[in-house]
Amino acid sequence: MEADVFVEGGIITRVGRDASASIPVSERVRVVDAAGAWLVPGLIDLHVHLREPGEEYKEGLESGLLAAAAGGFTDVCAMPNTRPVNDTRAVTEMLVAKAKRLGGSRLHPIGAITVGLRGESLTEMADLRDAGAVAVSDDGRCVTSSAVMRRALEYAATFDLPVIQHAEDHALTQGAQMHDGAVSTKLGLRGWPRVAEDVIVARDVLLAEVARARYHVAHVSSFGSVRILREAKARGITVTAEVTPHHLLLTHAALLGYDTGCKVNPPLRADEDVAAVREALADGTIDCIATDHAPHSSLEKDCEMAEAAPGMIGLELCVPLLLGLVHEGTLSLARFVDALTRAPARVAGLTVPTIREGARADLTLIDPDARYALDPARFFSKGRNTPFAGRAVRGRVLATVVDGRMAYEDTSLGGGPR
Ligand SMILES: [Zn+2]
Repeated sequence: MEADVFVEGGIITRVGRDASASIPVSERVRVVDAAGAWLVPGLIDLHVHLREPGEEYKEGLESGLLAAAAGGFTDVCAMPNTRPVNDTRAVTEMLVAKAKRLGGSRLHPIGAITVGLRGESLTEMADLRDAGAVAVSDDGRCVTSSAVMRRALEYAATFDLPVIQHAEDHALTQGAQMHDGAVSTKLGLRGWPRVAEDVIVARDVLLAEVARARYHVAHVSSFGSVRILREAKARGITVTAEVTPHHLLLTHAALLGYDTGCKVNPPLRADEDVAAVREALADGTIDCIATDHAPHSSLEKDCEMAEAAPGMIGLELCVPLLLGLVHEGTLSLARFVDALTRAPARVAGLTVPTIREGARADLTLIDPDARYALDPARFFSKGRNTPFAGRAVRGRVLATVVDGRMAYEDTSLGGGPR
C-alpha cells in the first residue's frame, strides 16, 4: 500500500494515505518523498563479526555500524570471537557503551558460551546478559563436547538466553579448505563433509529438547541439517536457524578458480544443498537470514587457499543480492522481510520492528528497482573481501532510520551517513 509515515521523537505517530496532509510545512519537518520505494521495518542481522576489540584494521564498531546502517540494518548482533574474546561482563559493557556513542546501527553483543572459546568451562552467562548480551555463541568454533553443550543449554535456559551453535565436528574437518565433493577432488583440496555439520545439529536438537533450551543454528549449509531441523520443528522443539546470502547464492563451483574470497566456514556446498536451504527459508524451516559479515584485510585473503582466513563481508550486499531471489520469485517479499525482521528479533529477544502508530521508528527504505553493479570500493565496511564485486543487482537501500534518527541515507536522498 502507498502511505505516509510520520515520525516524531523516535516514534511512528501516524500511518496512512495522506496521513501527513494535516502537518504544517515547517523547517523542523523533514519530508522524504520516496514514491515507488518500499518502506519496511528495520532489518536485524543476527550474525556479524565487527572485529573490535583487537582487530580494528579489519573492521571496528564505527565502520561496522555504519556499514550496517548502509545495508539497511537498524540492529546487528556481534559475535564474541574478538581479541580478547567477549567472554566477560567487562568486554560486553565496553562494546555497549562505545556503540551508544556512535551514530550507526544499534549493537547487541553476543557473549561466548565457553571461556576463551575453548569449549571447556562455561562463561558467567548471567553477567553477560546483565551487561547487554542477547545470546551466547562460540561462533568460529563448535562446542563439540556433548557434556559441555548439555550444561551450556541448561545454564543458558535459566537466563532465557539463546545458544547459537557453529555446527562443525572439528574431528571431521581437520585441514579442510572447502566442501568435500567433486570440486575438492578436482582441485586436490581437503574437504569439509556436510555430515560434520549434520551430526552436531542432530545431537544438539536432542540435547535442547532435554534441556528445554532455546537453540539456534548459525549459517545452515547442508540439506541434512535442513531435514533434521524440519523434523525437530514438527516435534515442537524450540529450535531456530539462519542462512547466509552466500549459502543461498553460491556453490562450491565458485572455488574452481581457487578464489580465496569464496573460502567460508561452513563452506559453499553443492547444488542440492543450495536448493534445500532455499526451500527451507521459503517455508520457514530456516527462520532467519543472517550475513555472517566477516571482514578480513588483503593480508588474510591474498594468499594460498590453505593460509586464507574463511569469511566474506555481507552487510552492504545482503539486500541487493537477496532481492534478486525476490524478483525472480524464489523467495516471497513477505518471507524476505520476516526473515530479516520479526524472525531474528524473536531469536535475540529484541523489540519486533513494525510499521504501526505508536511503534519505535526503526525503518528501512528500499528502492526495489535500482539497477547497478556492486562496488566494494563504495562500502563503509573496511572489508573488501567479497566474490560479488561487479555483480549486477537490482535493489538499493535508500535510508535506514534508527529510533527516528536517519542513521543512513543514500546520496539520491541527499545523504550518506549521519
Ligand atoms: Zn560460524
